[in-house]
Amino acid sequence: VATRSTKQKCLVTGGAGFLGKHLVDQLAGSGAYEVTVFDIRDTGDTRVMTIVGDLRDPIQVDKACEGLDVVFHCATAAPSAANVSNKRLMHDVNVKGTQHIVDACIKHGVPKLVYTSSASVVFEGRSLYNADESTPYAARPMDYYTETKILGEKAILAANGKGKLATVALRPSGIFGEGDPLLVPIAVEKAKQGKMKYIIGSGDNLMDYTYVGNVAQAHIQAGEALIPGSRIAGKAYFISNDDPQPF
Ligand code: NAD
Repeated sequence: VATRSTKQKCLVTGGAGFLGKHLVDQLAGSGAYEVTVFDIRDTGDTRVMTIVGDLRDPIQVDKACEGLDVVFHCATAAPSAANVSNKRLMHDVNVKGTQHIVDACIKHGVPKLVYTSSASVVFEGRSLYNADESTPYAARPMDYYTETKILGEKAILAANGKGKLATVALRPSGIFGEGDPLLVPIAVEKAKQGKMKYIIGSGDNLMDYTYVGNVAQAHIQAGEALIPGSRIAGKAYFISNDDPQPF
């Protein structure tokens, strides 16, 4: 007897990355989702189907978005020292690639698109007090990566209501947790080099850090809440642990 799967079909772009792996773990572990990953790297995760593909190729993206219930768009060109000044790469992956996702979702009638943005979209290098979602985008973003995150978020939010699509953007701050390739490893490396012994400024600056498991959970909850007419549709939300740490 054939039974129809009641699992929601979802796509996780960047599912081989730091956040993406945690999101895939939680989605697959819940038993409620049939998970496909779209990434330029293979995940090696046998619980899920992996499409090794490139966001810069609209045809690959279009094919990957057929017949889905929800897309979690987490992929980014990594803002490593080598990439951060590579404007072409950042723009092609984070802006054009995001537009390819939006276009494919609208074309295929995907109802839900959750985008991983960044808290840095409102940061201009000066302290922010009581900032919330009404804080405007940075007129002078910190770097080109952040500029592409702003452009990506704008494209995602502008797509809300087009065809059957509802969209939401989540803005985590610095993400830490198991598998972190950057934040803690770089801090440890700098400490080993003796470069953590001085403080620039007053030393009482605070910075939000968000646990990766919480960021992943926020994505799933946002996807679940994104039903037609949802009040979160077309909006962006900061994702915080609510306990800023000295920076
Ligand atoms: P990551 O570099 O670990 O993962 C990104 C994934 O995207 C990688 O697996 C990579 O292979 C994939 N990718 C890169 N280019 C691609 C392409 N052209 N086509 C398909 N896949 C491609 O990054 P992460 O830290 O997991 O970040 C995930 C998301 O969270 C990003 O959107 C990032 O902007 C956002 N974010 C991260 C942090 C942080 O502290 N890590 C903070 C705020 C926001």
